[in-house]
Amino acid sequence: MSAIVTRFAPSPTGYLHLGHAYSGLFAYEAARKVGGRFILRIEDIDPIRCKPEFTEAILNDLCWLGLDWQEPVRKQSEHLADYAIALIKLRELGVLYPCFCTRSEIAEEAARAGHAPHGLEGTIYPGTCRALSHEQQKENLEQDKAANWRLDIAKSLRITGPLHWHDRAQGEVIARPEDFGDVVLARKDVPTSYHLSVTVDDHLQGVTLVTRGEDLSRATDIHRLLQSLLGYETPDYHHHPLMLDGTGRRFAKRDHSLTLRHLRESGETPEKMRLRLTI
Ligand code: GLU
Repeated sequence: MSAIVTRFAPSPTGYLHLGHAYSGLFAYEAARKVGGRFILRIEDIDPIRCKPEFTEAILNDLCWLGLDWQEPVRKQSEHLADYAIALIKLRELGVLYPCFCTRSEIAEEAARAGHAPHGLEGTIYPGTCRALSHEQQKENLEQDKAANWRLDIAKSLRITGPLHWHDRAQGEVIARPEDFGDVVLARKDVPTSYHLSVTVDDHLQGVTLVTRGEDLSRATDIHRLLQSLLGYETPDYHHHPLMLDGTGRRFAKRDHSLTLRHLRESGETPEKMRLRLTI
């Protein structure tokens, strides 16, 4: 059996908090205890929300916590060409289409249809641009109209057939990517997306066990579909429960008092913190 490769993939949109520490340690320990490899990836494709100073702080905080990882750290913003290659492949399969709708047009269209079906990421895209002819698509693109590139889920599933994936906590899971509607894989402003980058990177980095919070469990349905379309192997998954604060709420980056930075400044030691998180 090949060695286990796990990863921690934070987005540098703020300081790491206790929830991240748990998730990072979870991935780290899953590799360490079986002599595997642990990778750190910085998911910084959003140029507005991601800041280099948070990347620095993440590396610093994780070192303080006692994690070490295989260099180099992959920063997604430096690998847009890899996502472009995957997009070309999907276009060749005929499962991508340009969408010229604005947010308000999507909301209006959904309301006109008399219902606004809610998917796992908000309103399900009503499919307006899926119906555009090649000529209309070409005309819009030639006029430099900004497009989001969406994945035609129904067409994709016709190619792949039914899919499932394995989770160490949930067992065998049937993928239902249709619950998301036609997700955006490349945005008007950023030529990729969370779903695409994460799938491409886990493949290129040889990740064999994806660990992350259970809030991202359903996103795996989309990733599984992309893996199948792109001819990638499917890793094993382990979605772990999220840490909750004293009031039962999820930790958020806005809770300054729970950031590793703050806890460390208030005298917390990495040893105490690791015990507290009991991985
Ligand atoms: N970058 C994502 C986040 O910070 C995690 C992605 C993943 O683990 O798949 O929430």
